[in-house]
Amino acid sequence: MISNSEIASKLDEAADLLELQDGNPFRIRACRNAARTVSSWPAPLERLRASGHALPKMPGIGKDLAGKIAELLSTQQFALLQELRKKTPSSLVNLLKIPGLGPKRIRVLRDRLQIASIQDLAYQASQGRIRSLPGFGVKSEAQLLAEAKQVGSEKVRIKFIEAQQLAAPLVEYLKGCSGLTRLEVAGSFRRKCETVGDLDILATGPKSVPLMDHFRAYESIQKVVSFGPTRATAILKNGIQVDLRWIPDESFGAALHYFTGSKFHNIAIRRRGVQRGLKINEYGIFRGARRIGGAAEPEVFKSVGLPYIEPELREARGEIEAAEQGRLPKLITLGELRGDLHSHTLATDGHHSITEMAQAAASRGHRYLAITDHSRRLGMAHGLDVSRLRQQLGEIDRLNQKNRSFRILKGIEVDILKDGSLDLPAEVLRELDLVIASVHSHFSLGMTEQTDRILKAMDHPCVSILGHPTGRLIGSRRPYEMDIERVLRGAMERGCAIEINSQPQRLDLPDLFCKLGKEIGVKFAISTDAHDTQDLGLIQYGVSVARRG
Ligand SMILES: [Zn+2]
Ligand SMILES: [Zn+2]
Repeated sequence: MISNSEIASKLDEAADLLELQDGNPFRIRACRNAARTVSSWPAPLERLRASGHALPKMPGIGKDLAGKIAELLSTQQFALLQELRKKTPSSLVNLLKIPGLGPKRIRVLRDRLQIASIQDLAYQASQGRIRSLPGFGVKSEAQLLAEAKQVGSEKVRIKFIEAQQLAAPLVEYLKGCSGLTRLEVAGSFRRKCETVGDLDILATGPKSVPLMDHFRAYESIQKVVSFGPTRATAILKNGIQVDLRWIPDESFGAALHYFTGSKFHNIAIRRRGVQRGLKINEYGIFRGARRIGGAAEPEVFKSVGLPYIEPELREARGEIEAAEQGRLPKLITLGELRGDLHSHTLATDGHHSITEMAQAAASRGHRYLAITDHSRRLGMAHGLDVSRLRQQLGEIDRLNQKNRSFRILKGIEVDILKDGSLDLPAEVLRELDLVIASVHSHFSLGMTEQTDRILKAMDHPCVSILGHPTGRLIGSRRPYEMDIERVLRGAMERGCAIEINSQPQRLDLPDLFCKLGKEIGVKFAISTDAHDTQDLGLIQYGVSVARRG
């Protein structure tokens, strides 16, 4: 058994080793892209393989590497990597574990100071011999020394909503520092990634603004790691690192682009810059020594002949090619949504009545809300049987007659039983406006059985939406084994929509699968799965996933 992240780390290692040996840049890039795609692929590839399925078509992975991944899955062997390892001393390879030290810099250290291990690095840094090397300085030397001592400590990643809960009060606090003209949280937070590792905050305004002192006094800081006039790093009480940078006005756009990432998107943009004789970095856009832009972020794209690319797309998953060919997707916005197709009430495990839920939805500007309580199999949630469901339908009819400006849709979240049949008979399902079919049990069926089960449920003519399709809970439950490509194709063929469930721990369908679904041509339903009136606000997270997908 080999997990996606193990495959990804082998691919990354191959890329690193190739780079340490001055290998073919195209090959290096191909390995890196493949590693990224595999590591964020939300279904275990080894299971697909084990059940005799072909690998899915994954964005950015060519035939050659797909073959190597297949080889790795079936034989546990990766010949390319073994060959590269033979040629590279492992102590040199260990240097790659130092943050901020890539193969290129390692080559400089090796060639100039014969540094071939972490111990060598720590020693030479402590002797002050690294600072004079090209591309290094006193600061980076000190950093390398600290890192060399610290390697191995794991970094925490938190769910997007948690990052948002940390960022919001911090941003508000920082904005209290008068004189700032702009403040933005960049990084994976701005790209709305499903998890966030740290917060990168950029601010601009007159240099005299005492921003860093103000930051240092923030009450939720556990430890200030470094502190200077234009940059400070601190760890918050929950362990999340915050980097705050003051940026001069003329560099703000370039810095915002740079610190938003992703790294791979930035590399591609910089490469396009080089082809046009430009240098693009966090300080600005330069032709030779002359600054030609960088105050506003769109200038970065314009300088390399591209239209503006939204942060959510900046993952080097084809957005640059799309921008170049004028086929960037128009991303959905929160304001475009007219309603919500998944909600629960007091009748099952929700906390508010139909009326309360409908009023809350209307006050958010929605035109409709589907009430989709659980079906009878979910005893724990007081799932509805036929007669309780019919009772609810009568109530909805009465409410709709009273208020014609808002539409309550009659729905159900019906359990998909083990054999793919549904938990309620067709005669009552036919009376509904929509039926969400969801897996709430038998998560551990084999790949083929699980896939067939879901396809069979979608065969039912009443099913309109497949609910939280992978079943994963971020950080706590792996997606069940299923052939996602078959499920998406099956949904498209049957005219069944796929849910993008906005619950922050679900975000299910995950973004990469959304992209695959979009390519296949499936329709999506962005829903909250609200269990109370407050939950209706979670729709923003589903929209973020949809935008990324
Ligand atoms: Zn559910
Ligand atoms: Zn639900």
